[in-house]
Amino acid sequence: MAPPTVSLSFPHGGKSSFSGGLFINNEFVAAGDGKTFAVVNPSDGKEIAQVAEASAKDVDVAVKAARKAFNESWGLNVPGFKRGQLLIKLAELIEANLEEIAAIESLDNGKAFSIAKGFDITEVAANIRYYAGWADKNHGKVIEVDSSKLHIQRQEPMGVCGQIIPWNFPALMFAWKIGPALAMGNTIVLKTAEQTPLSALKMCELIKEAGFPPGVVNVISGFGPVAGAAIANHMDIDKVAFTGSTLVGRNILKAAASSNLKKVTLELGGKSPNIIFADADLDQAISWSAFGIMFNHGQCCCAGSRVYVEESIYEKFMAKFDEKIKSIQVGNPFEGNTFQGPQVSQLQYDRIMAYIDSGKKEGATLRTGGIRHGQEGYFIEPTVFTDVNPDSKIGREEIFGPVVVVHKFKDNADLIKKANDSVYGLAAAVFSRDVTRALDTANKLQAGTVWVNCYNQLNPQVPFGGFKQSGIGRELGEAALASYSQSKSIHVNLHAPNPM
Ligand code: NAP
Ligand code: MG
Repeated sequence: MAPPTVSLSFPHGGKSSFSGGLFINNEFVAAGDGKTFAVVNPSDGKEIAQVAEASAKDVDVAVKAARKAFNESWGLNVPGFKRGQLLIKLAELIEANLEEIAAIESLDNGKAFSIAKGFDITEVAANIRYYAGWADKNHGKVIEVDSSKLHIQRQEPMGVCGQIIPWNFPALMFAWKIGPALAMGNTIVLKTAEQTPLSALKMCELIKEAGFPPGVVNVISGFGPVAGAAIANHMDIDKVAFTGSTLVGRNILKAAASSNLKKVTLELGGKSPNIIFADADLDQAISWSAFGIMFNHGQCCCAGSRVYVEESIYEKFMAKFDEKIKSIQVGNPFEGNTFQGPQVSQLQYDRIMAYIDSGKKEGATLRTGGIRHGQEGYFIEPTVFTDVNPDSKIGREEIFGPVVVVHKFKDNADLIKKANDSVYGLAAAVFSRDVTRALDTANKLQAGTVWVNCYNQLNPQVPFGGFKQSGIGRELGEAALASYSQSKSIHVNLHAPNPM
């Protein structure tokens, strides 16, 4: 049976057509049982394509392909510079197809086309290039202990890596995952999110065109409890990397523990504090704080969803912040000035609206937004709450939508206690003109990333990941290489005496 074909027409003109199959061994194939599922445009809730739906058996076929490739045509069989060349070729192909991938991403996920183009897909290529550069710089080391022996530490690939990614940055999460894994010589079975399988499928075409051997990258569309769970439980997957909810992250860890103890890295949720001191540049703080929560429609794991403003400037800050939030352009992702498109799905829309309702019921003040935007699709007006009880649902839980809660604080001691009062620890930000104050605060915050006088800055070179329940391990930078490799210590006897 032939797999489904995805044929898209973009609202701003142009078309794209590619396979909706499972990408296994460099071929697009139908699911073993022929099942497919619908992909929906979140701007109007209508179906735009069908893609193959992987079963546990399909995952198994993909793992066998990845294992064979690891043993025969990748990993230690291919020198690092060759892996790097293939990654550079892939980055070039992504750049050459940037407009088309961005349009696919925008249609599938709902993010603004201009942002998909200028940020998401541009960063995809940048991340792949960055890891291309590492592929032949995996030097290992010699450890001096004593002159009778030589100790060599090699950094070897893990083997077959399972990767499970979310829908908020479908293409970029794909790049964050495959870049370091391929640079270190691993092979891959990756599951995209059910809501957003399309950009990865287009990029699979390019992976084949770049010349990666069959079986090195295998990508399947499908559902978490079936295909995702099959990856997490598989006995022949050596490592699983997951980005998504803390709830599912726990399940992944349990599955690894009760199967083959595969290595696990997790990039999970957050409820990140964004702190504005009275001496901050107010316009700068307002601009970055609005961006910090509303970028990607609030669907960022590191979103600045708890803003803390020093008491003495609270009223002034709020007046300008409300204005800024009201000025955000919500609408058709393909219109030039749109900043915020629809939420990704009906389910996410419903979850966010339930949080807004609970905020109102629990006595918070709704300053702006809180309602649907337009008549169709999953659009929500950017929403600001104040007077929020820190122990209420909207005070504590990750909303993952365009909803921010703003608190006041009195002094530093009060602030640090409040800011760190969360089970999460992914990110935080501090706005102040006083460098000592900003850095003292940054040092005290329990977060894997702290931004000073900015927000949502991510670079391929800089590690990213969570303290506390926001995750295990780090992505990006050199740090990610460690989580896609394992060290082997080789002890060579030069002239140590026989022991007995
Ligand atoms: P999710 O269920 O955690 O989805 C993330 C990925 O995990 C998807 O590919 C998903 O597949 C897969 N998955 C789901 N259940 C699984 C299982 N039992 N075993 C293995 N894989 C599984 O996230 P969601 O339901 O889409 O979103 C819920 C909340 O998660 C959001 O509201 C937000 O708070 C948080 N979230 C965080 C991030 C982040 O960047 N840290 C990203 C997305 C969501 P399916 O696509 O089939 O679900
Ligand atoms: Mg889900």
